[in-house]
Amino acid sequence: MAIGNSWQNWAGSVTATPQLKSTPQTIDQLSAAIRSSPGPIRIVGTGHSFTPLVKSDGTILSLDNFSGLISHDKETLQARVGTGTKIGALAKLLHGVGQALPNMGDIDKQAFGGGLGTATHGSGIRLGAYHTQLTAMQVVDGRGKVHEFSKETTPDLMNAMGASLGAFGAVTAVTIQNMENYRLHRRRWVEPIANVLDQFEKRMTAYRSSEFYYIPFSGQALFLSSDITRAVSTVRPPEEDDSALVTLKRLRSYLLHFPWLRRKLIGSALARFPVEDYVEDWLRVYTSERNVKFNEMEYHLPFEEGAGTLRKIITLLERNFPNVYFPIEVRVVAADDVWLSPFYKRPTCSIAIHHDSREDPQPYFKAAEAIFRAAGGRPHWGKMHNLTAAELSKIYPRWADAMAVRKEMDPENRFVSPYIAQLLGISL
Ligand SMILES: Cc1cc2nc3c(=O)[nH]c(=O)nc-3n(C[C@H](O)[C@H](O)[C@H](O)COP(=O)(O)OP(=O)(O)OC[C@H]3O[C@@H](n4cnc5c(N)ncnc54)[C@H](O)[C@@H]3O)c2cc1C
Repeated sequence: MAIGNSWQNWAGSVTATPQLKSTPQTIDQLSAAIRSSPGPIRIVGTGHSFTPLVKSDGTILSLDNFSGLISHDKETLQARVGTGTKIGALAKLLHGVGQALPNMGDIDKQAFGGGLGTATHGSGIRLGAYHTQLTAMQVVDGRGKVHEFSKETTPDLMNAMGASLGAFGAVTAVTIQNMENYRLHRRRWVEPIANVLDQFEKRMTAYRSSEFYYIPFSGQALFLSSDITRAVSTVRPPEEDDSALVTLKRLRSYLLHFPWLRRKLIGSALARFPVEDYVEDWLRVYTSERNVKFNEMEYHLPFEEGAGTLRKIITLLERNFPNVYFPIEVRVVAADDVWLSPFYKRPTCSIAIHHDSREDPQPYFKAAEAIFRAAGGRPHWGKMHNLTAAELSKIYPRWADAMAVRKEMDPENRFVSPYIAQLLGISL
């Protein structure tokens, strides 16, 4: 979000006052801006990251003008798109030409380039994050030079830059592998968390997409499944997530010192929660509106660590943090080959914890982070964490290779802010 000369992220937890905010119109203007604007240069999508990836007191560059569907191929189901395209707009454009994204995350407001930048993902044990769709990409490096990379001709460079944190260059256009349009049968129901945890592996692999939310102090999970279907579309029921959060917050505030009553009231409200069961086109199923602001930490764990780690996080929350009312979100993601992907070479269970944006998340997040790290977790690049290069280089097997490519792409460290320097271990 840009206000006058200042900038802040979606949650309001990161602010910046850059010397320059620039939105180049053409690739030549972009190259010139990278060469001559005050550094450090950070590229912004829509500022939905919770970490200070975009923060800069030099230049914040928006690729909003690199938007839209550039071309598409009916045979291969590939499409070339500008990375400034918002994911929701991209979904509509693709749907209009008979193509579909195989999966989507929780919201569709981000720029596609921003989603790629932090390995944004949805849920599904056989479904990869957005960057697994990449077959080619155009990147403007730190000297303003334009490169075209592809899976066929430069597979290593594609793996080095599939998830690149805006630290290798400006990704201006990408070719992505899509699939034919499809409809999804979505179901949502409430069940005891004990059931879900006891059959965790089976349940998280039983559907094309499985995910669930644990509602704190309730003992209950809200489970969501979706599978491809040929059935006709029905109507998606109105969303209730925001009003449910308001209720959970009220119960938290009134019953902070009466956990048994809080549990009873949430339990009886959930017992009346309607089962959701509908069929819709893919682009109307995956995402939701998120109007209640929060901060978030998400760790990506080896799949087999999911259930045990979640048990520990629930115990931590319910014993020590009665002020937390946001549900815990649990998803699964397929393994991939991208060097800085948190899903690199391992099927993953992702656990996300949230906290009211007007309250200090750190005591809860730091305590949870110790549990996530002990289970071999890798943090979501765009969500709050406290790791720097010393720890990250140990949990990413191709770290040194990725950093060597980064140095070649940006020898003068044009894209290196103090945060990026600390994160990636670059001395300025
Ligand atoms: C309400 C909400 C819901 C969310 N849901 C999910 C979810 O379901 N799954 C998930 O994985 N994450 C989720 N996130 C996190 C979010 O998807 C990521 O933080 C994502 O990177 C944000 O995209 P953005 O366009 O806002 O990028 P920004 O936050 O603006 O930028 C992210 C990074 O990408 C870089 N970047 C952006 N564009 C380019 C480009 N064209 N070339 C090179 N680098 C670029 C930036 O420099 C930065 O390093 C959610 C966040 C919020 C606030």
